[in-house]
Amino acid sequence: MEKKEKWSVLLIAALTAVFLTSCSTPTKQQKSVKIAYLPITHALAVFEEAEELAAEDGLKIELVKYGSWPELLDALNAGRVDGASVLIELAMKSKQEGIGIKAVALGHRDGNVVVVSNDIQSAADLKGKTFAIPHRQSSHNILLNDTLATAGLTVSDVSVTELPPPEMPSALASRQIDGYCVAEPFGAMGVALGVGKVLFDSKELWQDSLCCGLVLTDKFIAEEPENARELVSRYKAAGNALNKEKAVEIAKKYLNQKEGVLDISLQWISFNNLDITEDTYNALVERVKKYGLSENPPGYADFVKNDL
Ligand code: ZN
Repeated sequence: MEKKEKWSVLLIAALTAVFLTSCSTPTKQQKSVKIAYLPITHALAVFEEAEELAAEDGLKIELVKYGSWPELLDALNAGRVDGASVLIELAMKSKQEGIGIKAVALGHRDGNVVVVSNDIQSAADLKGKTFAIPHRQSSHNILLNDTLATAGLTVSDVSVTELPPPEMPSALASRQIDGYCVAEPFGAMGVALGVGKVLFDSKELWQDSLCCGLVLTDKFIAEEPENARELVSRYKAAGNALNKEKAVEIAKKYLNQKEGVLDISLQWISFNNLDITEDTYNALVERVKKYGLSENPPGYADFVKNDL
């Protein structure tokens, strides 16, 4: 080969390498994944991950805030976001209705309480009273059913009302309701205000209870498998890194709540080991059926994706 030809070959090889690199990196390195959320402590792991990724090169999370579960569900079901931190029962219902989504991790572990007015001493005292939950499709509804069951009661013995989470502490204060169970920090807020007390911690009613999940659309998983994999592994790592101190710091930034409320609330929750195991999911399915949330919830293999 002549010297001139040799240089041409080398130049073409170098240009090809530059071209291939520039073609393969943008989707992986510069992608921003849209994740829907509500401003609750149950979504702290996704906030923590978004903060960590923002400080690095590569994958980013674009957090999309919603004011209520129905609004968030509309966005998820219509594919306006790539995923969401959402009540797992709501996501199960969407899946059941044919929406292409998978639950890839838990939002948190434990972290719910049953709050009642100060004059209620036991579950039996709830008979004939009004109790608020955020949505029929929620672990809060399941925990209400579990609470009543400890006294041999069912939901037919109480008046159940659905309220937006931030309204529950004031509804209890004004005696519009006699108790509630909802995502945090709104349980802690009732306790901090002195308008109510904890009747049960979720651990006393349902060991290893599930509540929120990180859900991704099938479209995102299929089109960007590497980003999906990275998003989930970094999410679980962010959850494992969320000790109490870090959780308070991140909650203060995203939730606009008083530190006293957060201190109470964060005693009840943890973010480590956010894998959805088959046993805990099946225990949820059993309760979903038993308490009439759904007759035909999706099975583990159809709905949970642990092998990203
Ligand atoms: Zn939750």
